[in-house]
Amino acid sequence: MADYFVRGTAGDDYIRAFAGTTKELVEKARSLHNLSPVASAALGRTLTATGMMGLMMKNDQDLITVTFAGDGPMGSMTVTADCHGHVKGYVQNPAVMLPPNARGKLDVGGAVGKGILRVIRDTGLKDPYVGEVEIRTGEIGDDLTAYFWESEQVPSVVALGVLMNHDNTVREAGGFIIQLMPGAPDELIDTLEQNLSIITSVTDLLKEGLSPENLLELALAGLNPVFRDRTEAEFKCNCSKERVTKALLAIGAEEIQDMIEEGKTVTLNCGFCNKSYDFTVDDLKALLTAAKENT
Ligand SMILES: [Zn+2]
Repeated sequence: MADYFVRGTAGDDYIRAFAGTTKELVEKARSLHNLSPVASAALGRTLTATGMMGLMMKNDQDLITVTFAGDGPMGSMTVTADCHGHVKGYVQNPAVMLPPNARGKLDVGGAVGKGILRVIRDTGLKDPYVGEVEIRTGEIGDDLTAYFWESEQVPSVVALGVLMNHDNTVREAGGFIIQLMPGAPDELIDTLEQNLSIITSVTDLLKEGLSPENLLELALAGLNPVFRDRTEAEFKCNCSKERVTKALLAIGAEEIQDMIEEGKTVTLNCGFCNKSYDFTVDDLKALLTAAKENT
């Protein structure tokens, strides 16, 4: 089954919910960046959550970027999504290896470490909206739950999971986000809490073959979930030679001059998808000439 996100409401619209399967998407990220198992789990959870957060945005051109700037051995992690199910992301140290945590699971919290979780919503205005909270456990779901509460005052549950195969490919990935709207009655909250208390592992449920709709049916049992639209989920980067050229120009004319004098073709990789772009000495010379004409 191809990856997708589903959006829904429940409990007379006092609840809004998102769920998704992201196995292919996370596997693509793993292979593009050559991610270790713990880095696959960390980036996979963040890609899944950010994809759903992208669907919360209103306008076609809006972008959301989630960054975990932690002090763990994985370094920082950045994921960007649009509102069409397209996500991309990377971690600073994709090869990070750690022993399992106390529960025998991939130690995502240890890989992320302590630091700041930053959410940037770019809606095309001059100043993007930026929300910041301290990283709690580094397990991603907990941290985003804290973000929604502290920064947006929306009580939320964020459940995410990535399960790896023994050959280090991705076996299952997905999750859900459930949010309470203001004024939700107590009985509704009690039912939701009871439902959630029996969901201990998203990956177990995905392994059993549950779809995103099934996940929400379980979490929202007795609350009349209504499913709205499905959105295909995909790891997709919009880099191009033009964009990479801009990044190269930002390095500065002096550096480009140095590269020309070295006389070798320069290869730049896109941080998000690792695609490489070659610039020959002639390319660099043309670039420099054009840059000088523009100043
Ligand atoms: Zn790219």
